[in-house]
Amino acid sequence: MAVNIPLDYQPQPELLAGRVILITGATNGIGRAVALAAAAHGAQVIAHGRDKRKLAQLHDDIVAVGGLAPGLVQLDLKTAQGDQYQGLIEQVEANYGRLDGLLNNASILGELTPLEHYDIGRWQEVIHVNLNSTFILTRCLLPLLKQSDDAALLFTTSTVGHQGRAYWGAYAVSKFGVEGLFQVLAHEYEDNPRLRINCINPGATRTDMRQLAYPAEAADSLKTPDDLAPLYLYLLGPDSKAVRGQLITAPIR
Ligand code: NDP
Repeated sequence: MAVNIPLDYQPQPELLAGRVILITGATNGIGRAVALAAAAHGAQVIAHGRDKRKLAQLHDDIVAVGGLAPGLVQLDLKTAQGDQYQGLIEQVEANYGRLDGLLNNASILGELTPLEHYDIGRWQEVIHVNLNSTFILTRCLLPLLKQSDDAALLFTTSTVGHQGRAYWGAYAVSKFGVEGLFQVLAHEYEDNPRLRINCINPGATRTDMRQLAYPAEAADSLKTPDDLAPLYLYLLGPDSKAVRGQLITAPIR
């Protein structure tokens, strides 16, 4: 069942105080906007990215808006191996001892081309970054999330993740997979009142990924990642405690 939640949610200034929230793909686009907004609303953010320089910039930007200095996790999801995921768990445990939110946001677009021409290596890469690494990270971090009194686990999908569209190839199929992962996990935890699992479709948003997919589009007609931030804060914070197992579609601007 899909639900629509308005964009006009007004988060309280200290909405996320006391919560430790890990955001993947926090160095660009939607993930970056959510990381900044979460930190500005009191969260201890753990920011994941693949680029050390962009992580350092995000750190400085979060501190500049008055947020707690974020934890930084550098991990290339294309190549990360088991011991690096283990290192990530140990880093979160050792530094914070808890996890109250996980936003699985990092993704790549891959090629927009007919399946007949889709490069096989590229296919594997997109499925790995968008789906396999989402599963691995979630599996690794579930034990910590389950220790929280009120944990929010959020997956990210796309309209092409529930309605196949020509030429969207591995990206679309990976998002079908993410929705399947979300549904299976949400069902497994439907009776656990301390862990809510939802999935968001941000819809057309002004980011580099969107620009790559629609290079000729007038980007200023689209909502921005900052426009979306309140909705993400809602889903990561205590006000959405009753929202469970939902696919949430962000409103169009
Ligand atoms: P961006 O391309 O702006 O950001 C993607 C993020 O994922 C970046 O931080 C990027 O890192 C990170 N990332 C990509 N590959 C890897 C990797 N191998 N290892 C680690 N991190 C990686 O995308 P958006 O902000 O637009 O998208 C965010 C989410 O929203 C995605 O899941 C996307 O599928 C979804 N979405 C977006 C829509 C839109 O219109 N923008 C519409 C529907 C869904 P880096 O900063 O180094 O590039």
